[in-house]
Amino acid sequence: MSEAKNYKEALQHPIFKTITKASQNLQLECYVIGGFVRDHILNRGNAKDIDIVAVGSGIELAKEVSRLLPNNPKVQVFKTYGTAMLKTETIEVEFVGARKESYTRDSRNPIVENGTLEDDQNRRDFTINALALSLSEDTLGNLLDPFNGLEDLKSKIIKTPLSPGITYSDDPLRMMRAIRFATQLGFKIETSSLKAIAEHRDRIKIITKERIVEELHKILLSDTPSIGFKLLETTDLLQHILPELIALKGIDEVEGQRHKDNFYHTLEVVDNIAENTDDLWLRWAALLHDIGKAPTKRFSKKVGWTFHGHEFVGSKMVFKLFKRLKMPLNEKMKFVQKMVLMSSRPIVIASDVTDSAVRRLVFDAGDFIEELMTLCEADITTKNPKRFKKYHNNFKIVRQKMVEVEERDKIRNFQPPVTGEEIMNTFNIQPSREIGIIKEAIKEAILEGEIPNEHEAAYDFMIKKGKELGLKNN
Ligand code: ATP
Repeated sequence: MSEAKNYKEALQHPIFKTITKASQNLQLECYVIGGFVRDHILNRGNAKDIDIVAVGSGIELAKEVSRLLPNNPKVQVFKTYGTAMLKTETIEVEFVGARKESYTRDSRNPIVENGTLEDDQNRRDFTINALALSLSEDTLGNLLDPFNGLEDLKSKIIKTPLSPGITYSDDPLRMMRAIRFATQLGFKIETSSLKAIAEHRDRIKIITKERIVEELHKILLSDTPSIGFKLLETTDLLQHILPELIALKGIDEVEGQRHKDNFYHTLEVVDNIAENTDDLWLRWAALLHDIGKAPTKRFSKKVGWTFHGHEFVGSKMVFKLFKRLKMPLNEKMKFVQKMVLMSSRPIVIASDVTDSAVRRLVFDAGDFIEELMTLCEADITTKNPKRFKKYHNNFKIVRQKMVEVEERDKIRNFQPPVTGEEIMNTFNIQPSREIGIIKEAIKEAILEGEIPNEHEAAYDFMIKKGKELGLKNN
């Protein structure tokens, strides 16, 4: 033990002192293990949750820790899993008793027995996640690293402690976790692991959609999400999870005319947008913005390859995809649908930026105009530097025009300058079709720039329109 590497400095949070004291009181050994240790050695910011493994009862240890803390925070016990959780203002601590696990074919939930620290380290998914630091007073901060996880951290390798085939087949969620960690940390997955993932990919079907989506979210929120999606593609997992993206793969050629590979294009767009936003749902929109292109792809001699209406078809596909993956069918989904539906609008107007087109764009995008512009800018993946510059410049002009038009016409969060009630009172009519017609005509006139977005002008326009409809004003 005297030669063991020591990481006492990782244990500065006051909670560790209390845990050490509690373990002394109960006369058991305990360790901090997993992500906290890994991220400390990698210098990856301050962890907000820590995992403690006790050689004995994790639940009893948690209760003792709570007893020693000033205001005895509540201990949440998960009896089925033999774990307990305790939250203080600054940190969330999960306690588990060291365990040995064995698996059955049809479930990722193992049969569990009490075990030693080594047993517990054996059940961990990756060598870099099996690192443990002692919390016993006499060996405080000593590193227990039976699988050379430290080496793997240094050489940036994702590797399983036991045979990869068994590890992934036992709990196929680990396939997603391997790819997610490779993406988040910029690590390589060891070749035999990668092979085992590809081999056992069908096992992903025993994993709940919610767990899969949780990993997809983390991949998408990484700095370079394409790393993860390429790994999901090469291992064939993507076909099981998001076949809509696989359908975008490939380049067709007819009569010498080719279209771009929309799968790799999409991944570039996602990487681009990751540089400009941390909004998970906007990143989802980038991932799905072209999914309508597979079912709408056509070739004609006259115009070559087309994807007519792919935005509309794509936005419909978003619903099915969210439903299949048990993702929320709420305003987040509607936002993604809206982004997909409108994903070509700024591009279409960018070559000829008229005031009315900009007003319509701002009107239709509403609160999400910024997000839509961010998506469209990320969509510029041309390798031709001249075009790259030109397209970005066009969007700059659109943005400039948006500011001017907004200052003048206040189209964002548009409120009709003449209300339905005012129309009814003016023409002395009951609720009827005519009111809708007049309101729509006023809105159109404003968007077209025929009248300014002001009450007086809209009122005069209403009188004119009412007359055309045969109405008499008071
Ligand atoms: P992050 O917080 O970034 O997800 P983490 O490593 O802390 O990283 P958790 O899901 O909190 O991830 O898991 C804590 C630890 O539990 C891991 O470091 C790993 O040792 C172990 N672990 C988690 N999930 C599995 C699994 N499916 N199979 C084996 N070990 C796992």
